[in-house]
Amino acid sequence: MPSRERTFRTEAIVLRRKDFGEADRVLTLFTPEAGKIRAIAKGVRKPASRKAGHLELYTRSNVLLAKGRDMDIITQAETVQAYRPLREDLLRSTYGSYCIELLDQFTPDEAENKPLYDLLTQALGWLAEARDLALATRYYELQLLGMAGYQLELFYCVVKGEKIAAEDQFFSPAEGGAVCPACGENRQGAFPISLNALKVLRFMIRSPYDALRELKLSASAHHELERVTQRTITYHLERQLKSVEFLKQVRQTIE
Ligand SMILES: [Zn+2]
Repeated sequence: MPSRERTFRTEAIVLRRKDFGEADRVLTLFTPEAGKIRAIAKGVRKPASRKAGHLELYTRSNVLLAKGRDMDIITQAETVQAYRPLREDLLRSTYGSYCIELLDQFTPDEAENKPLYDLLTQALGWLAEARDLALATRYYELQLLGMAGYQLELFYCVVKGEKIAAEDQFFSPAEGGAVCPACGENRQGAFPISLNALKVLRFMIRSPYDALRELKLSASAHHELERVTQRTITYHLERQLKSVEFLKQVRQTIE
């Protein structure tokens, strides 16, 4: 029997999986207390594996880990929440992959971040149910940016600090917020944003997710919000996420 400190129990969400050897898989898990960790699930690709169903992508599970020589070993797994619609609906599943990849990109290994864990579990729940998946995803992106230290500034011009007036503005991904028309004109990387889209963004940043349920956005507002979050994220990650392209393709096919 391993001694007590050689095993630990935690809740975890499966972020990534990779086949390993004959019948094993290496998983990237996101946990509330230990952050992002890698662990091996032995024999999980065998048809008789009892762990397999509890270690699918997006699944939230209780796992028992044992310290291995190179990597922790998953000795038990039991589903807490399966988020089944994410598995059964291609569009939901694609948004789910995107949200998971985004978290993966913004998170260093083994850095504890309980609020971010809670955000991810909530977001997967929203994506399993939401009518407006794009809106739920924008909300998740805004919250994640805030937690990563990139909270958008939407009340004061990020160039000279003047209060933003009730009129159409510009937005600068590099400076992370609204830019007044005087500063925004001809500013490299800044693009126009309508007063309406700015108001929606302010509302989303300050409100709990439940407040969004009744929100019905026009196609152009959706487009503006997506431009703000995508350009901000791309700026910070310095590259386009792989799944953004995939998400676009899937949406063009389905919607
Ligand atoms: Zn200004």
